[in-house]
Amino acid sequence: MRRLIVSDLHANGEALEAVLRSARGGYDEAVCCGDVVGYGAAPGETIAWAREHAAVIVRGNHDKVCGGLSEDAWFNAAAREAAQWTRATLTADDLEWLRGLPAGPVRLDTYEVAHGAPFDEDEYLVDDIDVEDLDHALERPICFVGHTHLQCGWQWTRGGLYRLPVPAGHEEERLVRLEPETLYLVNPGSVGQPRDRDPRAAYAIWDDESGLLVFRRVPYDIERAQRRMREAGLPAWLSDRLSAGR
Ligand code: ZN
Repeated sequence: MRRLIVSDLHANGEALEAVLRSARGGYDEAVCCGDVVGYGAAPGETIAWAREHAAVIVRGNHDKVCGGLSEDAWFNAAAREAAQWTRATLTADDLEWLRGLPAGPVRLDTYEVAHGAPFDEDEYLVDDIDVEDLDHALERPICFVGHTHLQCGWQWTRGGLYRLPVPAGHEEERLVRLEPETLYLVNPGSVGQPRDRDPRAAYAIWDDESGLLVFRRVPYDIERAQRRMREAGLPAWLSDRLSAGR
């Protein structure tokens, strides 16, 4: 089975559209690591896609706050404002769906899915030191996470911990051939608000039959997404950062 792995859509309709166009025909099922909403101007659009197409999904911290499940006291002012706007914009039915999303990790036959970390849905896994001892927490050969908005991955072999290659510069994709008897932690990057200084939308495709993992970046209509955010009255800092990818 070929799976489209997405995370942190953050109500960016233009970015999601570009990802789906780019991935079209290349996957059988979609998996979402959370944060469908928050920050962007198109929460109804990203929810509509996730509701219909995400075969596996976990909730993100923004899904919890926008759905009204947890306090936004630890959000910065812009994130809080966006969460309030999102809550006021969504239908009661969509809010209900957000509140019903499962907490990660969700464990399937051959893989698991979490928002932050397999041991804590709100934890950020950024550096090698954050994941060093995580192989003991993994209960499947491959674990997909999101939350940091950084496209990255690690592999544990008998020799130690290695970083997986991701697209750099103008590269569109990087292929990783997965090895047996090896543990992997993979972050597909953020569809709707990348923070790795590459403004292009990020996603991954995982084929469990051929053992191929592809990290991909795709340009999208950033200006249109920004215009919609401004028109919605969302904080300028949130729309500005999309063009910097940080
Ligand atoms: Zn996020």
